[in-house]
Formats: sequence, structure tokens, C-alpha cells
Amino acid sequence: MQKKISWVVFLYIAGYHLFLLVALPLYFLSHSLSMPLLWITLGLVFVAGLSITAGYHRLYSHTTYKVHPVIEVILLFFASLATQGSALRWCFDHRLHHAFVDKERDPYSVNKGFWHAHIFWMFFKTETIDPKVIADLWRKKLLRFQHDYYPYCMLAANLIVFLVVGWVLNDYWGAFLFAWWVRLFLLHHTTWSINSLAHYWGSQSYSQEHSAVDNYLISLVTYGEGYHNYHHTFSQDYRNGIRWYHFDPSKWIIWLLHKCGLAHDLKTVNNYRIARELVQEHKDRLMTQLNNSFIAQKENLRGLVSDASESLSSQLVNLQKLLETYRAMPRQEARALVGEIKVSKRALKMQWKAWGQLLRFVAKVQS
Ligand SMILES: [Zn+2]
Ligand SMILES: [Zn+2]
Repeated sequence: MQKKISWVVFLYIAGYHLFLLVALPLYFLSHSLSMPLLWITLGLVFVAGLSITAGYHRLYSHTTYKVHPVIEVILLFFASLATQGSALRWCFDHRLHHAFVDKERDPYSVNKGFWHAHIFWMFFKTETIDPKVIADLWRKKLLRFQHDYYPYCMLAANLIVFLVVGWVLNDYWGAFLFAWWVRLFLLHHTTWSINSLAHYWGSQSYSQEHSAVDNYLISLVTYGEGYHNYHHTFSQDYRNGIRWYHFDPSKWIIWLLHKCGLAHDLKTVNNYRIARELVQEHKDRLMTQLNNSFIAQKENLRGLVSDASESLSSQLVNLQKLLETYRAMPRQEARALVGEIKVSKRALKMQWKAWGQLLRFVAKVQS
């Protein structure tokens, strides 16, 4: 079915790109960019970007944590500044993206092309919001207000920021060009990269069932959303980068809010469950490779891989259960389990090592 063009969005986006194309060279003919204006512009890109990733995305779309109402107001102010539609519209599209990833109903499916996922999808009218999909958010008065008065909220946030920056730097023309439109350009393209680049360029460590990829470099410009393969596999986790060294400022901000008592109920996925998913993924890949290979010991290797993965998975389940029991018991009684946990962890370590060796062996035999 032919989709209708969304003229307002098209003219807005195309219009400000054209405006920048003309205005920037004219600005540099008579001005040079001051360092304070540059840093304020980049700071605004970062804050508004974070309000989309930590707010629209992880707080509302996936409800991975809860925040104090004052923080919600601040997040919504900066998310309105980001000019990416209301929270309800954004979350509806995003929940469809997860539910139908890479399929026809995915609003920004990368299967329709890189540029469709990046920008072109917005030029066409998308599905009308079905309140059932976002029933938990539809009930929130603050979100309904932002949705009903979105053009005013967006305009007010941008005007306030432009006027404040212009007044502080005593440079209204510079503030209008950089703190509004250049900021919007940088912010839009970095956020849009999550739908395009993060479904296109990187590794698929956790699942190959969807096009999402993990890429450290993409994380650097997407406020930590570059670990997109993990996110699509475990979208209930407030983190995207799960290791401490993964660049994920959205995760750090949420964690900091939690430490200040302003965020609570942070959801994470259990490490042993993540490890089980990795084992399953490794096994599926090896089995596919073995099925397609012509080596003589193919059947033996298939048996080895199958047995080892089953044993490792059940070891992971057992240890997870043991630790849960340990945490649920009174401290005195729990002490009796310490020895068993140590033995189980040691056994898991050995099995994990053997699994790695088996993976390398099969890869070597096939090459
Ligand atoms: Zn998501
Ligand atoms: Zn995605």
C-alpha cells in the first residue's frame, strides 16, 4: 500500500537542512565560532540526546526503571528540545520496532534500506497510535499533556534555550544558528544512527534473529545505544553496555540518579541468563557451520557440541538457582551453601574453558 507523505515533517527536516547549507557559509564569512558557543552547542546535543535515550527509550518505551516526577519533567523538557515527536508517538513507534523488527510493521526497518531506517521513514505517515500498545504510558497525565500540546512544548523548549544562550553569550544570531539548528542537526543524525548504523555495522554477539548489531564506535555518538544487539535481545535491561568499560552514558546517568535516590527499580538481566543466551547462540552458529561443511567427523562434532552446550547450560541454571536460594535464606542457614557454591563456580569455570576450546577446535577443523 502506498504511504502518504507527511508534508509537515518533510518540509521541516528538508527546510532546516537547506537553511544550514546556506546560513553556515554566510555566518563564517563574517564570524568565527567562539569556543563557549561550540561547547554550549555540544553540551545541549548531549543533554537532549540523553533525555531521548534515558527518557523516551529506556524509561518510557521499555520501562526499565522508574524516576522521581521532577526528573520526568526535566527529561520531558529536554526531550521536547530534541524535536523527535511526543513521548507517546516515539514510544508507540519504538514498541512496534521491537515487536516487528525487520518486518513490514517495523516503522524503521533496515530491510527497506539504510536511508529508510535513518531518515526517509519519517517522511511518510506512520501507523495511527493504538493506545493499547502504550496503555501504561497513555494513562500518564504528564505524557498526555506533552502529546496534546507537543508543538507548543517543542517550540517553547527551543525558544527558551535559544534566548538563554543568546543572552548569556550576548550573541543571538550565533545562538540561533548553533544552539538551535546546528545542535538539532547533530542531535537528529546521532539519534537516527541508532535505527540505521546500529542495525547495519557491527557484530551480532547475542542473537542473529534480528538485524541489530553491537558496535563500540556507534556507542560513542549515540549516548551508549551502540550495544544494540544486546538491547534487542534483552530490552528489559536498563543497560545497553553491560560491562563497566562499555561506553554507555545513559546507563551511568540512570545509575547516578539511583544513587541520589531519584531513580529506583532498575531492571537488569541476570549474568547467568546472558551467558546461557551466548552459549545457545554459539551452539546455533556451530551447528549451522557443521551442517554446511563436508568434514568426515561432522556427526561426532555435532554430538560433542550438543552435549557440551547442554551440560554448560544446565550448570548455569543450577548455579543461578543456588545463588537465588542462598540470597533468599537467613544468613546463618545460608552459610551451609557456601561450599556448594564454590564447587559449582569452579565446575562452571572449567566447563566454560572447555567450551571455548571446543569452539576453537571446531573452527580449526573446518578451516
Ligand atoms: Zn529499544
Ligand atoms: Zn533497533
